[in-house]
Amino acid sequence: MTRINILPPLVADMIAAGEVVERPASVIKELMENSFDAGAKKVTVEFKSGGATYIKISDDGCGMSPEDAGIAFTRHATSKLHDEKGLEAIGTMGFRGEALAAIAAVSHIELITREKGAPEGVRVTVRAGDIVDMSPCGCPEGTTMIVRDIFHNTPARLKFLKSDRSEASACIAAAMHCSLGRPEVSVRLKRDGEEVFFTPGDGREESAVYALLGRETAHGMLPVSGKTEAMSVTGFTSSPAFGRGNRANQHFYCNGRYIKSVLLQAAVEQAYKNTLLTGKFPSCVLYLELSRGAVDVNVHPAKTEVKFSDEKKVFDLVYQTVRACLEAERKPLEIRLSEGTKKAVSEPKSDFFRSMPAEEYRAKAVFQNAAPERRAAPVFRAPTEYDRPLPAEREKPAAAVNFAPKVSASPKNDAFPAFSPPPARENVEKAVENVEKISAPACRVIGEALDTYIIAEIDDELMLIDKHAAHERMIFDRLKTQERQIMSQTLLAPVIIRPTAEDAEIMDKNSALLDEMGFEVEPFGQSSYAVRAVPDDVDVSEAASALEEICEKLRGGDKVSAESARDEILHTVACKAAIKAGRRHDISELERVACAVASGEVRYCPHGRPVSARLTKKQLDKFFSRIV
Ligand code: ADP
Ligand code: MG
Repeated sequence: MTRINILPPLVADMIAAGEVVERPASVIKELMENSFDAGAKKVTVEFKSGGATYIKISDDGCGMSPEDAGIAFTRHATSKLHDEKGLEAIGTMGFRGEALAAIAAVSHIELITREKGAPEGVRVTVRAGDIVDMSPCGCPEGTTMIVRDIFHNTPARLKFLKSDRSEASACIAAAMHCSLGRPEVSVRLKRDGEEVFFTPGDGREESAVYALLGRETAHGMLPVSGKTEAMSVTGFTSSPAFGRGNRANQHFYCNGRYIKSVLLQAAVEQAYKNTLLTGKFPSCVLYLELSRGAVDVNVHPAKTEVKFSDEKKVFDLVYQTVRACLEAERKPLEIRLSEGTKKAVSEPKSDFFRSMPAEEYRAKAVFQNAAPERRAAPVFRAPTEYDRPLPAEREKPAAAVNFAPKVSASPKNDAFPAFSPPPARENVEKAVENVEKISAPACRVIGEALDTYIIAEIDDELMLIDKHAAHERMIFDRLKTQERQIMSQTLLAPVIIRPTAEDAEIMDKNSALLDEMGFEVEPFGQSSYAVRAVPDDVDVSEAASALEEICEKLRGGDKVSAESARDEILHTVACKAAIKAGRRHDISELERVACAVASGEVRYCPHGRPVSARLTKKQLDKFFSRIV
């Protein structure tokens, strides 16, 4: 073996560069972060073709003194960290002093910078890590960095670059991620001289979302916000109607830093369970803030992976916050910007974030999104504080007040939580006022079409409702929120079933769960089982097929979590209990379903399919050319 040799600094930097500078997009990320750290309010990023030949970033930040500019390219030269104590409380994006050294090692850099208040600036030319020229120059306050010919001296890395198109996409994505994390900084991105996006930097997260993700995504976003003592999460998450085919529009930030996190992704997706179609993913932009000690950003050279000291707390906060937002969903937030901002922001021009023209959007939205502005708060809501007697008045007789809208009485009220009327006069008044505030639109059922769809008129809209899907959801929600055990009906005569050996095993293994869900099943003879009780909602004639379906769903064995096994069983029960397509139903039954849909309470079936489609009078009038 040859003797140990200390590597020359350039070689060491080139090796380090491999970690920090993976591709041109990493240069954009590092330089933008430096601009943010320098307190810039305006940043302009330009690149040519795929970024490898030319990247230029200008900012109006604090700039550098000539001395600092002279050592900025030296490895471990940083103004952001002085000793190991500071490492615990890093507040800046950078701190290792590695980026500039690494970038300089594999490219040619021109730095033009002027410190705030300094009479003149300095221009520094760096070739493959060495400063070859440094001279005073006139320039605005702030810093401009031009990086040329990335990987010119590491042909192996150059070879690994993808096509200009995909490198450009990565550059745009990197700039987008940085900008989305900093709504208070105005960023302009140009590719080959053409503007790709511009963010206004007005400090509003919604402005950044609109400018960067485009109108279509912004339209479907709901604001979220939640916090615990130690951390907070804010941002936006998509309405379930706006599910995407992939996760490309999930963006997570931790203390302003864009991060990739399987944990946060899982927390968000878990919150959408039962509302999003299988194969669809939510979009979100979530800003997590937590004390600097509670997160370690020092686990990955690009700092895109972080380690939370208490993962469960982070998961729970994000899950609960998104979940609460979806449950409270009334109408997707329409991001409102002033005309001025809209013009200034414009829409992202690159097809990378293709946005739909307004007309196309509206056309799609009609059926997808059941007229958001018309969605009133549910009348059939969970009991509020007014619904419960006040402690002192609990014993007094209750005054009668009828909250329900005009629907025919139905012997079995499936959908609506029973509530006890409020007892005292002022409470009654308060409650009436409350109900008036949230009164549901007038809903009139016209009839049923094709034995499948309810046709209803709601204020000035025509609504088609998939009666089975809507009813299924109503039952599913009721079962799910039911605190006590599921009501079960003991059958007069047990139903004898003959499951396959595999199904029998599944039933044995899950007997406690089945019991809890209202099915009482026990072995009966050699290979038969007796079903002695089924959930209240399931008809006897459906007992065998319900159990068969449940066994099919539980076949995943240990891979199915207890929670999702329960949900699956509830799906089956709800499906079996719901009114069926292909059969005629009594108008009163249809009315109950239509009212629940009209109130906005029921929007998706438990599998995430939409339950209704609406046509406004205006759309019909337009169609028939009554109006132009
Ligand atoms: P780090 O960001 O980890 O400190 P870098 O190598 O990215 O390391 O930058 C080295 C130093 O150069 C920074 O600490 C900062 O003092 C200075 N610097 C880099 N970019 C800028 C900029 N745009 N404006 C002002 N100073 C900068
Ligand atoms: Mg840096």
